[in-house]
Amino acid sequence: MAKLLEGKVIAEAIKEKIKQEVALLKARPVLASIQVGENAGAASYVKSQAKVAEALGIEYQLHKLSEDTHEAHLIDFIQKLNANKSVNGIIIQMPLPQQIDYKKISQYILPEKDVEGMHPQNIGKILFGKAKILPCTPAAVMELISASGVDLYGKEVVIVGHSEIVGKPLALMLLEKFATVTVCHIGTSKAGKLEEHVKKAEVLIVAVGKAGLIKGSLVKEGAIVIDVGINRVADKIVGDVEFEAAQLRAAFITPVPGGVGPLTVTMLMRNLVEAAKAQS
Ligand code: NAD
Repeated sequence: MAKLLEGKVIAEAIKEKIKQEVALLKARPVLASIQVGENAGAASYVKSQAKVAEALGIEYQLHKLSEDTHEAHLIDFIQKLNANKSVNGIIIQMPLPQQIDYKKISQYILPEKDVEGMHPQNIGKILFGKAKILPCTPAAVMELISASGVDLYGKEVVIVGHSEIVGKPLALMLLEKFATVTVCHIGTSKAGKLEEHVKKAEVLIVAVGKAGLIKGSLVKEGAIVIDVGINRVADKIVGDVEFEAAQLRAAFITPVPGGVGPLTVTMLMRNLVEAAKAQS
């Protein structure tokens, strides 16, 4: 039976460290959060971010803009926050209304205030192994693997999902640890090759958003399974991996909820403190 990699528990130790670093800063660090329009998903992220920020001594400033906000106005708003010396980090809540292109507007956040680690300059630094600000979800996955105590050197790691916020940056971060990395995606499934890759994974990371996509019986004996997926099924939140069956085969597995999610928020706050330190 696999041991649980509980993000909640691992996050507590990291939060203690963040609190100590916050106490050493000259001014209380400030995270500016922009929410455009009303959306239940965004509202729930904001709520949990505000709660964690408060517990860590971080000021969380929520800026709510109307649903019909134009890109030009949002860019202008971001530039004002860029110029505001008291603001250390900026986050844009997803999802955004359809008239706003996240890829376009996120580039207007100054790289030194980009606490989501998604500015091309910050993403580019990952390629050279020099990033101080890492994208939050991949950073959370790396912390979970580290908590298992397993050395990634030479390990067969399979990532399912190649999005810009999870799979792609994570692949680079794993290569930095000398893992052998395979990245699967919809094309892999369509070609009927997903199973063969999953079966060989010593470390399996799944970030797709399809409940039950990965059958527990495919998980290699003794594998580490990190399930990033969040799916609502009959009023329950589940991941992308069949948890009970996978737990019987894996050595370590993340629960959903309570695995990657709580650590992702913690990584955001860690990035904010890194940004505040670099700016002071
Ligand atoms: P996305 O939609 O941007 O990307 C999905 C990926 O899955 C793509 O690479 C796509 O090719 C791949 N895919 C789709 N169907 C597939 C299939 N049948 N077989 C193999 N690959 C397939 O998604 P995202 O934004 O990366 O999010 C993925 C999941 O992770 C979602 O459930 C999301 O809610 C969750 N998520 C969780 C956190 C967290 O903090 N826990 C953070 C980010 C995303």
